[in-house]
Amino acid sequence: MSTEELVLAAIELSQCSVAFRARVGTNTGIGSEALVVDGSDAQKRRYLPDLASGRLTGCFALTEPEAGSDAAALTTVARREGDGYVLNGTKCFITNAPIAGLFTVMARTDPAVAGATGVTAFLVERETPGLSTGAPYTKMGQAGSPVSEVHFDDCFVPASQRIGDEGQGFKVAMRVLNKQRIHLAALCIGPAIRMLDEIVAHTAQRRQFGQPIAAFQLVQAMVADCQTEIHAARALVLETARKRDEGQDVTMEASICKYFASEMCGRVADRCVQMMGGYGYIADNPIERFYRDVRLFRLYEGTSQIHQLNIARRTYAAAGHDPRG
Ligand SMILES: Cc1cc2nc3c(=O)[nH]c(=O)nc-3n(C[C@H](O)[C@H](O)[C@H](O)COP(=O)(O)OP(=O)(O)OC[C@H]3O[C@@H](n4cnc5c(N)ncnc54)[C@H](O)[C@@H]3O)c2cc1C
Repeated sequence: MSTEELVLAAIELSQCSVAFRARVGTNTGIGSEALVVDGSDAQKRRYLPDLASGRLTGCFALTEPEAGSDAAALTTVARREGDGYVLNGTKCFITNAPIAGLFTVMARTDPAVAGATGVTAFLVERETPGLSTGAPYTKMGQAGSPVSEVHFDDCFVPASQRIGDEGQGFKVAMRVLNKQRIHLAALCIGPAIRMLDEIVAHTAQRRQFGQPIAAFQLVQAMVADCQTEIHAARALVLETARKRDEGQDVTMEASICKYFASEMCGRVADRCVQMMGGYGYIADNPIERFYRDVRLFRLYEGTSQIHQLNIARRTYAAAGHDPRG
């Protein structure tokens, strides 16, 4: 699919349960993207058909207990040994890890080099001795999307499972996340559309003071703000997707998409709870569930603050300035 086709499909698909879209979106996103962009032909032939069909579940293991926003601080080590590498370390917060058959793992092949250089990407199959996953976390939302730690304990990975060259792993990860940010922004738009649909139906039917609450202009203002922001996010994401398909560098725009669409979705969720009144706070109500489910969007794949920093840094750089002086 082109990026434009991908985001159009994601906007439709993500109008269902957020956990369901995570099941599909992780496999077609971060769970396979490193393979798509930097994998060898043999690796692609071996894994991509099964990942695309859903027979195989993928996941992307970058985050560690001491390396979250500062992902380049990762300490999982891949020590060269014979015709492969021995992995040791722990990843945390890995979506799909409890059910994944294939792990894209970032590990440090050169422990002497700190930061982004010295990191290499690997494909690790679930059955590999030394790989284990923790119990799924109990989360605020998205109960249907299992997330856990991943442990590597003297886990031998053949060199044929390396993605790209040694030391290129962080660049691989950034290429994955660059596209994924546009994808994720699209995945924030679907739930917002769905919440607005639900709330329009509710406010048209719920009566107070002898009339539907939809008749009250303060309620209409919240509906208008939701609709306006959804349209703005959709236009932004589609424009960025088309620019990427034309081969333009959309690194800053991808950050803007992720930042704006995830914050937009949070604002829509908050207004929709407000328009539901007390029922909006009662569990088993779709809006209450969406409110919890979409909270994650502002946290993963770069928090809003990390995207703000990235956008500001690139804005200054484009004008020839360094914001650090
Ligand atoms: C449910 C779930 C699923 C996830 N799935 C995956 C996955 O599949 N694969 C994966 O690799 N990771 C995954 N993650 C990890 C996610 O990407 C990280 O949680 C995220 O990057 C933030 O890192 P952290 O949690 O360590 O927070 P921290 O980095 O500790 O950040 C805490 C706070 O400090 C702020 N902060 C940090 N640095 C700065 C700074 N320089 N300037 C300003 N503010 C700053 C942050 O914005 C945030 O508000 C997942 C997380 C969750 C919760």
